[in-house]
Amino acid sequence: MVKKCPLCGSNEIRFLVKPYRGGSIYVCGSCGNATTYPLPVVSYLEDSFFDLPADEFNTYRTYAGQITDFISEHISKGSLLDIGTGAGFLLEAAQKRGFAATGIDPSGPAVSFCRTRKLKVLQGYFEKYAFKSRKFKIITCCHVLEHVTEPEKFIAKIKKILDRNGYLFLAQTNYQGTIPHLLGRFWEGWVPREHRYHFSPEGIEDLLLRNGMRIKVLDIIPLGYTAVWRKGNGPIIRGNIYNLLNYIISKFKIGFPFVGDQMYVLAEKL
Ligand SMILES: [Zn+2]
Repeated sequence: MVKKCPLCGSNEIRFLVKPYRGGSIYVCGSCGNATTYPLPVVSYLEDSFFDLPADEFNTYRTYAGQITDFISEHISKGSLLDIGTGAGFLLEAAQKRGFAATGIDPSGPAVSFCRTRKLKVLQGYFEKYAFKSRKFKIITCCHVLEHVTEPEKFIAKIKKILDRNGYLFLAQTNYQGTIPHLLGRFWEGWVPREHRYHFSPEGIEDLLLRNGMRIKVLDIIPLGYTAVWRKGNGPIIRGNIYNLLNYIISKFKIGFPFVGDQMYVLAEKL
């Protein structure tokens, strides 16, 4: 039985939905974030990483380009650390736009794959890595925070290694988007066996504020379903149907009200 929100400690917890892939989602009436029960255990295989089929590389490159364009629109270039960099597409895109980009990832194959393309990458878990006095102007976490065991400690460490005027960029799903409302338990963004937490725009603001960071820009956009679809995670055709649905919702502003199911968050230190 769920008693309190693991993120803010409130006991205003209520059942929200039972994703068809397992588990149950409970939402916190105080901070607005949601949690999966039972909490999935983070067990990344360090000798493996998201197995990207080569024919989807362009989709990921486009996504990484959109993110780095968004960052470039709001802040000037500098040193960048990408946490959970995986195949390093964000590093490539950031380098192209003039950032001095470094990635970190626990996966050996992911790190090797990055290094064969001359990308700078550290191997290890961000939580455990000793950065010593090294600091960064911007730290990016794309669809990472929902997997982390202790998001508060994670953000505290980010804050510590950010420059005084540094920024944190997060790309997260938004479980309060129109598509999750329409699809309920069938929304693929729940990923209940891997995602411990589910953030809302208000919830992410609350989490950041409680940890000494303030949102500078928050953009709510549709999730690119073909980009999140991996082989074995559902047919690409279904991803395309969601993309079409997202396009129609964006075009005609229909929804509860219209909101996308992904957010880009740029936060600065308080
Ligand atoms: Zn809460």
